[in-house]
Amino acid sequence: MSRPTVLVIGLGAVGSAAALHLARAGATVVGFDRWRPPHRLGSTHGESRITRATAWEGARYVPLVARAQQLWADFAQATQRQYFSATGGLFVGLPDEYHVQGSRESAQAAQLPCELIPAREIARRWPWLRVPDGMVGFWDPGAGVLAPERIVDDQLQMAAQLGATLHFDTVVHGIETTSSGVRVGTSHGEHRADAIVVCAGGWMSQLIGWTGPDLQVERVTQHWFAETAARVDAPVLLLSDGHGHATAVFPAQAKRIKVAGHGSGRVGPLDALERDVRADDIAGAESLLRGYLPQHAGAYLESSSCFYTKTASGHFVIDRMPGAAQVVFASACNGYGFKFSAAVGEAVAAMALGDEPPVDISSWRLP
Ligand SMILES: Cc1cc2nc3c(=O)[nH]c(=O)nc-3n(C[C@H](O)[C@H](O)[C@H](O)COP(=O)(O)OP(=O)(O)OC[C@H]3O[C@@H](n4cnc5c(N)ncnc54)[C@H](O)[C@@H]3O)c2cc1C
Repeated sequence: MSRPTVLVIGLGAVGSAAALHLARAGATVVGFDRWRPPHRLGSTHGESRITRATAWEGARYVPLVARAQQLWADFAQATQRQYFSATGGLFVGLPDEYHVQGSRESAQAAQLPCELIPAREIARRWPWLRVPDGMVGFWDPGAGVLAPERIVDDQLQMAAQLGATLHFDTVVHGIETTSSGVRVGTSHGEHRADAIVVCAGGWMSQLIGWTGPDLQVERVTQHWFAETAARVDAPVLLLSDGHGHATAVFPAQAKRIKVAGHGSGRVGPLDALERDVRADDIAGAESLLRGYLPQHAGAYLESSSCFYTKTASGHFVIDRMPGAAQVVFASACNGYGFKFSAAVGEAVAAMALGDEPPVDISSWRLP
C-alpha cells in the first residue's frame, strides 16, 4: 500500500505533536506554519505551562492528560532531554471555586491521590505562602511544569528526522476538498494530499473553505518578577483573587517568578486582538503576587501578551470538518490546552490515517 500524504496546518503545540505522530506512523507529512515555531505570536510561548494529574475542566480530560504525560515521558527517554518538572501543584481558593472544586471532583471520579488542605496547614507546610482566611488548598501531587518551547522545537526536529517536510514562514490561505483528498493554497504554492490536519489555533476559522466552528480569542498576559529569596520545594500554584479568577504562579526559573492570570474576559475576533501589555495588566499580577508571597516577590522584570483560542462551549472541539471527512481539526486551547497537546496531536494524526485514537475523544466532537 502506498503511504498516505497528510498535510498539517499550524506547527505549534498540537500541530508539532500531530506531525511527529504522523511521521512515526509512516505517512508522508508536509507541515506549514506562518512563522517558525516556537514563536511568540500564537498561544505557546512563555517558558512554562502547568500540567496536572487532575482536571478541573472535567473528569473526561483525565485520561487525555495522562496519555500526554506518558507520551512526553517516552519522548524524553528518546531525546534524553527534560520537558517536565515534577513540582506538585497547590490550587488555592474558596472551596467552591472552579480550580478547587473541579479538581476535587475529577480526582474523586478518577480515584487519584489528592488532598484538601486548610489554610493553617498550608502555612505550616509552605511558610512563605500567605493564604487568606476561608481559603483552602487542593494538592495535586501529579502536577508540575512543562517546557512548551523546548517541546515544540524537539517534536518538530524529530518529525523532520523521521522524514516530515516542514515549510516555515508559509501561510496557508485555504482548504479545498477534492474527489481524491484535499488541496491547499499557500503563500508559496499549492499542495495536494489525501488528508489534512488543521491545528492553526486562533487563525483556524479565518481559513478559506473552513466550515468548522467559529472561534474567538481571549487576550491574556504573563509577567516575570525577580525572586528575592529562594522558596524550597515550591509547587506550581493556582491562586484565587477571591472573585472566581485563578492566577498561575510558577516555581522560579533562574530566580524569576512567572505570573499568568487565567483569562481576562476580553474575548473577540483575532483581528481586534490588542497585543500590547498595559500598566493595569502588570499591576494586577503584581498585587496578587505581593499578597500571596510578600517575602519573595521582587522587582518587576518583563511581560508578554498571548491569547487563548476560545470555543463557544469552553471545551475542546476535535473532529472532522462538516462535509469534509478528510479534514481533521483540533481546537484544543481555551487557556488550558498545552498539557493535553501531545495526546490531542496523536489523536488527530490517528483520525487523519483512518485509525482509532488511543484515547477516546468522541465527547469533544461537534454537536
Ligand atoms: C499566557 C498563556 C498561559 C497558558 N497557560 C497554560 C498552562 O499553564 N497550561 C496549559 O495546559 N495550557 C496553558 N495555556 C494554553 C496553551 O498554551 C494552548 O492551549 C496551546 O499552547 C495552544 O496550542 P495550539 O497548537 O492550539 O496553538 P499554537 O501553538 O498557537 O499553534 C498554532 C500555529 O498555527 C500557525 N498558523 C496559524 N494560521 C496559519 C496559517 N494560515 N498557515 C500556516 N500556519 C498557521 C501559527 O503560526 C501557530 O504556530 C496558556 C496559554 C496562554 C496564552
